[in-house]
Amino acid sequence: MKRGKVYLIGAGPGDPELVTLKAVRALGAADIVLHDDLVNPAILAHARPGARIVSVGKRGGCRSTPQAFIERLMVRLARRGSVVARLKGGDPFVFGRGGEELARLRAAGVECEVVSGVTAGIGVPAAAGIPVTHRGLARGVAFVTGHTCEGAAPDWSALARSGLTIVVYMGIATLGEIVAGLRASGMASDTPAAAIQHGTTSRQQQVITTLADLPAAVAAAELASPAILVIGEVVGLADLAGAAAAGRAAA
Ligand code: SAH
Repeated sequence: MKRGKVYLIGAGPGDPELVTLKAVRALGAADIVLHDDLVNPAILAHARPGARIVSVGKRGGCRSTPQAFIERLMVRLARRGSVVARLKGGDPFVFGRGGEELARLRAAGVECEVVSGVTAGIGVPAAAGIPVTHRGLARGVAFVTGHTCEGAAPDWSALARSGLTIVVYMGIATLGEIVAGLRASGMASDTPAAAIQHGTTSRQQQVITTLADLPAAVAAAELASPAILVIGEVVGLADLAGAAAAGRAAA
């Protein structure tokens, strides 16, 4: 009997060309593809003809196809000898529950290979012309989530003092609290700030403004999830014309 295997694959931030050759090869080898909602359907074209394609995820929340169910399903399929491609938006290990899935698969003795992808926190700012660790403007970058199922917020005060570019995933719903937390911690109200929705795709939309004005600008532009927030001096380098062109170029 054929030996089963699971590939945990990052599908990139949206542009179907921002996917690795390794991801394409693993998709082509799979008998079954389990994908999240944020995955661009164009990427599924790399699955081999006849492979089963199953959508297993809702976006941006705690309630989706129950995580335990997905994990059990992967174990069952692999034990049956199937090659499973578990396709996730961005990178599987960045706010993608890839670590939990890998641990479950290892515990079950299932062979698993992780295929890293371009995470939204880097690929989406790049599509707006924002270099997240530009020398002289940022000492590094912090990836944080604005949404946790437990309700625990990041330490905004430590981040405000860190000299790091702050990239927030899932931050639209709590944008007001994020901005208030950073300003209360002493971050200058005129710190450059951006929100970018559907980055790297033809639907990319963004606002480039200041920390203080970000909530009003996001509301005025009616930006919604999925969006990335970028806060820090590097946002001042955003190339608006280039960003629009990049958005149009993507499928
Ligand atoms: N594993 C993914 C992140 C999953 S969490 C990764 O590495 O990118 C989902 C969040 O990612 C969204 O709420 C949003 O904040 C961000 N996101 C994903 N794709 C995006 C896109 N094309 N444009 C803007 N934000 C995106």
